[in-house]
Amino acid sequence: MVAPVIILLGPPGAGKGTQARMLEEDFGLVQLSTGDLLRAAVAAGTEAGRKAKAVMEAGQLVSDDIVLAILKDRMAAPDVSKGVILDGFPRTGAQAAALDKLLADSGQRVTAAISLEVDDEAMIARVSGRYTCGGCGEGYHDQFKQPATAGTCDKCGGTGFKRRADDNAETVRERLTAYHAQTAPLIAHYEWQSVLERVPAMGSIAGIRAMLADIVGRVAA
Ligand code: AMP
Repeated sequence: MVAPVIILLGPPGAGKGTQARMLEEDFGLVQLSTGDLLRAAVAAGTEAGRKAKAVMEAGQLVSDDIVLAILKDRMAAPDVSKGVILDGFPRTGAQAAALDKLLADSGQRVTAAISLEVDDEAMIARVSGRYTCGGCGEGYHDQFKQPATAGTCDKCGGTGFKRRADDNAETVRERLTAYHAQTAPLIAHYEWQSVLERVPAMGSIAGIRAMLADIVGRVAA
């Protein structure tokens, strides 16, 4: 069987990362986030990371050649054969075309592209206050979800928390602009390939998880 390739599309704050981790748990697929891969490259101080850092902090898109090199490298790892959930990739027409080609070379194609449909203004509030546990990655928010005991992670008991350098209101506006200009047009690309699924994603995390599980269960069976 050809392994499923599921794409999550949506603006910053739509819940791509949260839902991708849940699909990993529910279906044994591998989450592949180009944002995470780029942040790891920045932290490691690699050449790609040094080039990407300022672009990411400005909320703009890193060049296709850097992103594609990082993605191809990750796609070559053995665990990817279980199937992947692409979170934050592709983000441009050139990336979508490169992905189609990469998959076609091994007789594969995109199984489903799921567009998480949300309101922009709500995304600014969501993204601006979010932070994660440095130990287990559990997500929190200044307004919407504080740990039960202040300063201690509910899930792993860790006390170190991280905030992304680009999760502030000004940079989120830039990221939304980049999304609408460069990424939203991909919705039509996948509609044309007859693999597009639209999911209303302003509701509860559990409700959206259930809708995604229905879709993935159907297309990846
Ligand atoms: P994310 O974690 O998906 O929100 O991505 C954080 C930042 O990393 C984005 O604002 C971009 O600067 C960069 N980035 C992540 N994925 C891509 C991509 N596929 N193409 C270009 N830039 C990306």
